[in-house]
Amino acid sequence: MNKIKFRYALALLLCLTSDIVHSGEKALTNTWNSPHVVLRCTNVNDVQWTRGFWAKRFTVCHKSMIPNMWQLLRDPQISHAYDNLLIAADLKAGRHRGPKWLDGDFYKWLEAAAFVYGITRDESLDRQMDKIIEVISKTQRKDGYIHSPVVIAQRQGASQADEFRNRLDFETYNMGHLMTCACIHHRATGKTTLLRIAQRAADYLYGLYKRSPKILANNAICPSHYMGIVEMYRTLHDPRYLELAKGLIDIRDQVTQGTDQNQDRLPFREQTQVVGHAVRANYLYAGVADVFAETGDPNLLETLTTLWQDAALRKTYITGATGALYDGASPDGSKAHSAIQLVHQAYGRAYQLPNVTAYNESCATIGFALWNWRMLCITAQARYADMLEQILYNGVLATISLDGKRFFYRNTLRQVDDLPFELRWSHHRESYISCFCCPPNIVRTIAEVAGYAYSLTDSGVWVNLYGSNILDTSLPDGSRLKLIQETEYPWDGTICFTLAEVPPTAMSVFLRIPGWSREAKVRVNGVSLNCIPKAEQYYEVKRTWAKDDRIELTLPITTQLLEAHPLVEETRNQVAVKRGPLVYCLESVDLPDDVDITEIALTPTTKFNARFVPDLLGGISVLKGQALRLPADKWDGTLYRNISSKTPQFIDVTFIPYYTWGNRGHSEMTVWLPVR
Ligand SMILES: [Zn+2]
Repeated sequence: MNKIKFRYALALLLCLTSDIVHSGEKALTNTWNSPHVVLRCTNVNDVQWTRGFWAKRFTVCHKSMIPNMWQLLRDPQISHAYDNLLIAADLKAGRHRGPKWLDGDFYKWLEAAAFVYGITRDESLDRQMDKIIEVISKTQRKDGYIHSPVVIAQRQGASQADEFRNRLDFETYNMGHLMTCACIHHRATGKTTLLRIAQRAADYLYGLYKRSPKILANNAICPSHYMGIVEMYRTLHDPRYLELAKGLIDIRDQVTQGTDQNQDRLPFREQTQVVGHAVRANYLYAGVADVFAETGDPNLLETLTTLWQDAALRKTYITGATGALYDGASPDGSKAHSAIQLVHQAYGRAYQLPNVTAYNESCATIGFALWNWRMLCITAQARYADMLEQILYNGVLATISLDGKRFFYRNTLRQVDDLPFELRWSHHRESYISCFCCPPNIVRTIAEVAGYAYSLTDSGVWVNLYGSNILDTSLPDGSRLKLIQETEYPWDGTICFTLAEVPPTAMSVFLRIPGWSREAKVRVNGVSLNCIPKAEQYYEVKRTWAKDDRIELTLPITTQLLEAHPLVEETRNQVAVKRGPLVYCLESVDLPDDVDITEIALTPTTKFNARFVPDLLGGISVLKGQALRLPADKWDGTLYRNISSKTPQFIDVTFIPYYTWGNRGHSEMTVWLPVR
């Protein structure tokens, strides 16, 4: 056994036998040993939602989303996901059905179940996962290759059933999600059953990387395996996985005939603009951020920062959603005609953010959250946490119905009836979608919000997200910390922390002051602190704490009318309504029958009153105010006409949070409204 192998074996043995668990070793992303991150993560079961907003969403996730989705995935009349695994495991006769990436989507659901088990210790989930993992293990070839479409074809003796024949077979995507899922399962359960399967898959990919890097590079479509392999490295400390992770980014430059659609037309380090398929893009950037966290390659972070600015400042909707285009050309408007390529479900030009035709695949929004989370861990800059919050409360939650059983594939910001053109995917949330990538991605994201709530450094604890919960963790020096957070956030901006268990030495509590907040205040044990908190920064409160000390953060939550950059042509002379982190919208259900949603306008001085309605849409604050109604004649048979001379009338309007729209039957909806 050579030296490296011996050290690896020793590390593995320690990892699997040691009772000492450092904070972050059992985290959503294990940054405990990552040399190039500022923030370390908390463990899977360190944060328990207690009540309020996220506790409700988490309970729906546990009691409705996960069991409901299992019924979908196991019913071959609806989804062939589990049947594909049973057939690949030789436990059932049949053939592969459904998209090639369905295994990966199944693993996302399994990851959600594992994370929820980690928090709830629901034994039935554990037993269920054990049975499923036994099946998954039988779908794996001896050499570690695992991918049900090819395994089934090979078992059945099909000719031309070779692996990696077609880059759109999504083999690395499936294996990547397996690896991430296996790490979470291991951290939540302590078991190594799924981890061993993922380890063999990772070894297989490492072998392929050594043998045929070009084949591996060409098959990096929707590259979940970048995040997956880094997480495997963090779990198993196998240096080959770090080598592979670094190599996976470098070999992208060897792709021949690369496309903007797949972000491989240019070498990664030369890219300055986010382009192409937005899920693939955001998975790539999140994966590269993971590679930076382990390697510290400054060119990677420089490129990521440039790309993030392009995405966040020019190509992101107010809901945090990304990927505006159904279909487009890239680079659109280029002088070099021959260089223009087709893209779909893609980032568009800078400021190209249409509303009615917004694509915004749910997975792209989630990919953007994954990327922002990793940028936050690397830099500790509040702007990334702000964006994460914006994405979670608006973009992510809107993708799923309040009962947790119906899903959007694409996410519009303005829904109007009777469009004279066809748009792909339903404009209602559907219980099953033939391309099932989004629904389990949504479920795992909601399951894992607790993993984003706090971070740790040598100096103390960082509060990234607000919501009633208990943080029970150990600090990097081993001392215990128990923090009780109580709040009605996002409906109210008072957030109270009780330090129920404190370290013996001085510790800082870093509170995120959101970019939208004005005049935030912090009090400790009832005494106001002199230093004024600044928006879009973490506010540090440092002292030697006593048990039961209290911190009170007040973020005045006011209703704001926002306008967009003038180059966003589709929102010219329009405003959106935001209250705290929540984007609001107007839904036709809340208008009189004879009033069309396109007739409503706001004024720059429109005032809204917030009122909490416990029995509406799961308990929300609605915004009530007066808007202008501009009665419009029918537009039949004309494209242009003289401006109306009718006098606008004031009418009462009610706005609801964007994430709750589409839960009361068919409706029209808009986030942006004209301002008069
Ligand atoms: Zn998707």
